[in-house]
Amino acid sequence: MSSMNNTNGKRILVSGAGIGGLCAAWWLSRSGYAVTIVEQAATLRDEGYMLSISGAGRRVIEEMGLLPDLRQAALPVDRNLYLDARGRTIMQLNHGKLLTQLDHQVVLRGDLADILHQSLNDAVNLQPGTRISSLQQDAHGVDVQFNHGNTQRFDYVIGADGFRSATRRLAFGPDTDFCQHMGMQAAAYWINGGTALEEDMVAIAEPRRMSMYYQLGSKGVTALHIWKSNLDAAPAQHTRRDYLLSEFAGSHPRVIDSITKLSASSSVYMDALMQVHIPDWSRGRVVLLGDAAHCLTLANGQGASMALAGAYCLAQELAADSSPAALLRYQQRMRPGIAALQLRGRKAARLYLPDSVWSFRLRNWIMSAMPKSMLLNYFIKSAQEELHMTDHIQLQQASRRAA
Ligand SMILES: Cc1cc2nc3c(=O)[nH]c(=O)nc-3n(C[C@H](O)[C@H](O)[C@H](O)COP(=O)(O)OP(=O)(O)OC[C@H]3O[C@@H](n4cnc5c(N)ncnc54)[C@H](O)[C@@H]3O)c2cc1C
Repeated sequence: MSSMNNTNGKRILVSGAGIGGLCAAWWLSRSGYAVTIVEQAATLRDEGYMLSISGAGRRVIEEMGLLPDLRQAALPVDRNLYLDARGRTIMQLNHGKLLTQLDHQVVLRGDLADILHQSLNDAVNLQPGTRISSLQQDAHGVDVQFNHGNTQRFDYVIGADGFRSATRRLAFGPDTDFCQHMGMQAAAYWINGGTALEEDMVAIAEPRRMSMYYQLGSKGVTALHIWKSNLDAAPAQHTRRDYLLSEFAGSHPRVIDSITKLSASSSVYMDALMQVHIPDWSRGRVVLLGDAAHCLTLANGQGASMALAGAYCLAQELAADSSPAALLRYQQRMRPGIAALQLRGRKAARLYLPDSVWSFRLRNWIMSAMPKSMLLNYFIKSAQEELHMTDHIQLQQASRRAA
């Protein structure tokens, strides 16, 4: 990616040092922008959930020269065991073949953020513990006030601050205008003093809820719970243990045990699954990226890859033309792929956690009756279909494709 016009001295603020924000900062700083990132958290460590990187996202990582780091951080989640609440096996699968065929890398979100962060060196001014508190824009720039009280002017502001984006709230409107609840919540955390699992991933599946445990080598064991709920807000951190205990009452002893072991100081990720639908991803000189613009949720396996692809397209357009028209071209390139993925995600979410005991048993019966090779082929085909949707996203600019 090269700068075709003069971007030197132009200043960009990125809100959120997550997957999209760090990647955008990397590319923008290479094309001559002076980049500042503000991150509300004091550190980049998080609660231990995993992401799969594939398709367009993986190609962006490759272009950054970071594929060896990604491969090194990749964790095996090949052998998967699905149990019911009484501990009976529903299904046992080896996903290794699937992951190899699709060129997926599964990594901890925190490890991917670390890789991106390390790759920035000192090229970017990263300010942890900092948030935007107000934005005021005119035709030539954006005046930003931060939580510490200081004010600075930037040429552009990128909101890469997740699906509950504060940048979006300040520049576009309230979350309720853009967030579409998928009827589920998720929680993730590291297990305290966990014992080794019998497989790479063990899931306890039940009607309306599911708990997944991942063995991450010497790093330990993480838990991910997903359950049906229309609750919109994320409960306060100190209430999350009790909240989970009530949502998973009567579940398998492993589930009760992992939740019970959480301490008052444990950091637990918990929030609703919400897709973000917003007609225009930019307003003047403020633009949204990743989950802030088009959250897919974990119902798709492409949220992180799309944040990387979006960061790449946005930076590429701003490198070619530092006028606000670049923001519109970025959206045009991303939109078709995102629309297809969101539609697919809504369909997948309906099947994810069967509502009734009857439909839950029927699904389990079909899965256990199906030959393993057929089941694996079904998963491969389904993942390939999803990857195909990301092919809509053109990582090459239109002008370069035509050349
Ligand atoms: C439990 C779980 C499992 C998931 N599994 C998958 C998966 O398997 N595959 C996949 O592709 N995706 C998965 N995802 C989705 C994936 O994590 C996101 O799509 C991806 O991280 C989006 O990147 P982002 O940069 O938009 O946001 P994030 O990576 O979430 O980064 C946002 C950053 O903004 C910061 N921030 C928030 N508010 C502010 C503020 N006001 N000011 C400054 N900074 C702020 C946050 O601290 C964070 O660092 C999962 C998500 C969850 C929660």
